[in-house]
Amino acid sequence: MSIKCRFCRKAVIYPEQRLCVDHLSKFIEKRVDKVLGKVLGLEEKKILVTVSGGKDSTGLAHIMALRDLNMELLYLNLGIPTYSDASQKVVEDFAKARKLKLNIITLNDYGFTVKDFHEKQEEFRSNTCSLCGSAKRYLFNKFAFENGFDFIVTAHNLDDFASFAVMGISSGDLRYISKTASVSWPKKEQKTVGRIRPYFHVPEKASLIYSLSNNIPFFEGDCEYVGGNKQGDIKTRVAELERVAPGFRQHLVKFTRKSGTPETTAPKSCDSCGYPSAIDSCRFCRIKERLR
Ligand code: SF4
Ligand code: ZN
Ligand code: ZN
Repeated sequence: MSIKCRFCRKAVIYPEQRLCVDHLSKFIEKRVDKVLGKVLGLEEKKILVTVSGGKDSTGLAHIMALRDLNMELLYLNLGIPTYSDASQKVVEDFAKARKLKLNIITLNDYGFTVKDFHEKQEEFRSNTCSLCGSAKRYLFNKFAFENGFDFIVTAHNLDDFASFAVMGISSGDLRYISKTASVSWPKKEQKTVGRIRPYFHVPEKASLIYSLSNNIPFFEGDCEYVGGNKQGDIKTRVAELERVAPGFRQHLVKFTRKSGTPETTAPKSCDSCGYPSAIDSCRFCRIKERLR
């Protein structure tokens, strides 16, 4: 006998919470609205939704577009041979169908691509994904700041935050996870735009089923460098633990966020570009200098 939704007795599509297709949509949209509701006067803010073309980003952009918001989309082309142009096309079609303004920037405008990171990762003593992540964070903030946006919206989900928590524990450094929240406020004097993470409490599997069941287009391929991504392995193991101990991810994120010591040193700014940096030159400028 098939399992029935705990609210309406229709067939279940998301067994973890015993929800049918309609109630899964309500479950996700309620979680998104709860986070959006933390920003008072959000309708008057200028919002930039970053879209990679993956299931989480187009699903979230779809939900955001149904709200009465002053929002635009941002796609960053990373120059990954089998991934970037194809995912850009998905985002272009997505934006066109919904009449959303899409901004496109390319890493290559700075003289390099993620392919260059990959080829020189040993020289950098860092892996491709870490370099790529730094470039994304830097360029999202720079574009948003220079174009007068108040908040950047990203579609990181609960499984992402749980894997960041595990990585923080394994490196003994909980600073990143301790300062990560569903909303981070703008600090204009530090050239930092605010962040909203509406999928903070949304499990990855729920996001995937939501996008599939609502026919939201997304790019189904994987980045070719994902194999070297430790985060992917950690996510798989965290999902296994969640299966045997439901609630594990939420509690892991909650406890590690509480245990971390928040940054106490005053933020500096990069000597070259003026954006925030822990030392004289920010990571993006150091990467740029090295690849020149
Ligand atoms: Fe960047 Fe790694 Fe994601 Fe590829 S898998 S887009 S290199 S962070
Ligand atoms: Zn239902
Ligand atoms: Zn810099």
